[in-house]
Amino acid sequence: MAEAGAPRHDPIPIGDMAKPPFARLPEPGRMFARRAERFRFLARDPDLKPYLLFLADICGAQHGIQDGLPAAPLPAAEAIARARSHGMPPLDRSRFASEPVFDATLARFLAAAATVAMPEPAAAALQELRHAEPAGQALMMRAVLDDAVPVEAMAAHLFVAAALQVHFARTAARLDAAGLVPVGDGACPVCGGPPVSSLVVGWQGAHGTRFCACALCGTLWNYVRVKCTLCGSTKGISYREVEGGAGIVKAETCDICRGYVKILHQHKDPALDPVADDVASLGLDLLLRETGLRRGAANPFLLGY
Ligand SMILES: [Zn+2]
Ligand SMILES: [Zn+2]
Repeated sequence: MAEAGAPRHDPIPIGDMAKPPFARLPEPGRMFARRAERFRFLARDPDLKPYLLFLADICGAQHGIQDGLPAAPLPAAEAIARARSHGMPPLDRSRFASEPVFDATLARFLAAAATVAMPEPAAAALQELRHAEPAGQALMMRAVLDDAVPVEAMAAHLFVAAALQVHFARTAARLDAAGLVPVGDGACPVCGGPPVSSLVVGWQGAHGTRFCACALCGTLWNYVRVKCTLCGSTKGISYREVEGGAGIVKAETCDICRGYVKILHQHKDPALDPVADDVASLGLDLLLRETGLRRGAANPFLLGY
């Protein structure tokens, strides 16, 4: 045990580490409501306040539309087993095709979003999206899932992405976490998507371990610390935060791929949310942009960064 007052050189309390689970599936019945609450709390920031309050309402809509939606269909058990044996994600986002439960989710979400206060250009984009042909909506869905959103249509894609988050989280929640296997660095073991950020958790039995958070389905997967979540390098890793930061939101930067993803110290503050706190720490992205580092995370609420 360290002497009282002795500096702590080791940021990872090894003694606390138990064997963490490989993955934790999302709880869509709670996740979006908690995120809405977190956005509302973070909206104390005067610069970002209107946008954070808008996102709080969007997350409120993501929560509110779930009641009464039919269960999201899972792939057949054989297909899930085959994906597992090939180290592939069972709900591969790159192969997702629209189906009736997603269509219902999207329609409900767009109707709920129409009651949210937002700037005129966003409201116009939403109106256009609500009246778009299914083929047009499907193209936007594809662009979101391929991380290929055109800059001139970011607002409309944000709404599609929010509906996809609900659908993928509801589907992921029905999987068996024990059946998941790693599918590669920087890829969610459920849907194959990139992380939005990573969390050092304070969970009992896994205190101090790190989990990547999926931007799409909300699954958390265990990933060793001091290792690039984008390319897997364990060399050239360093941490940056804004001057005077509280040490709870940092960027984990990698000299090998020149990318970074934020790491949130949730063990110090359990309220931290992988999506909301990523948006609210935009100042850190602006700081890192000047260094030429590439933002490697995906966050549908931070399109264009
Ligand atoms: Zn995922
Ligand atoms: Zn890297």
